[in-house]
Amino acid sequence: MCGIVAAIAQRDVVPILLEGLRRLEYRGYDSAGLAVQQDGALHLCKAVGKVAALTERTLHEKTAGPIGIAHTRWATHGEVTEANAHPHVSKRVAVVHNGIIENYASIREELKQQGYVFVSDTDTEVIAHLIDAELGRRDSLLAAVQAAVARFRGAYGLAVTDAENPDELIVARMGSPLVLGLGIGENFAASDVAALVSVTQQVVYLQEGDIARLRRDAVSIFDADGQAVQREPH
Ligand code: GLU
Repeated sequence: MCGIVAAIAQRDVVPILLEGLRRLEYRGYDSAGLAVQQDGALHLCKAVGKVAALTERTLHEKTAGPIGIAHTRWATHGEVTEANAHPHVSKRVAVVHNGIIENYASIREELKQQGYVFVSDTDTEVIAHLIDAELGRRDSLLAAVQAAVARFRGAYGLAVTDAENPDELIVARMGSPLVLGLGIGENFAASDVAALVSVTQQVVYLQEGDIARLRRDAVSIFDADGQAVQREPH
């Protein structure tokens, strides 16, 4: 279980995501990746090995955007390869995940029967496809993520971005830590407060089962029953 950083801002968030990942390097990891969205399109960048290799790729590919998610992976399901590195994508949705989805195999079979094609050996890829499937049945990204996580057994900290929702990010946790960082006109999330110290001094620790919607000017938190809740900033 390694690291997650997510950001929604007016400015390019790639330097923020990479700096956050660098501050999580002490935890150990085998690969890294990020996804940003800009003008309705998702841009992905992944690298096996160090965050420095990912940084070089983002510079080379001129990856930039005002909303994004990033990850350092410690492989539990599938080899250490670029295909297995996060984020994992399903059409318009990209996901990063720390932890293990224990019942992924049965959900994977179900999604395959619906026509979803899997390109990795990870448990995580079912999260992306299930959220995409739920988006077809629900009226918001938040509702789709709520419906998807209700199906999972195991542990997850996750961050989700949807190219058709350029003004919000969704994060969720169960059995893996996740903290929100509050800014002015920008908001953040990470698996460890260390990733956020260069962008904010104000953090909110999510509790087990919480799902949060981050917009540039507001953060809303819901408990596992879908009730809006307040969590004290620190
Ligand atoms: N189980 C996922 C994988 O193997 C996530 C591992 C992690 O926590 O980094 O890709």
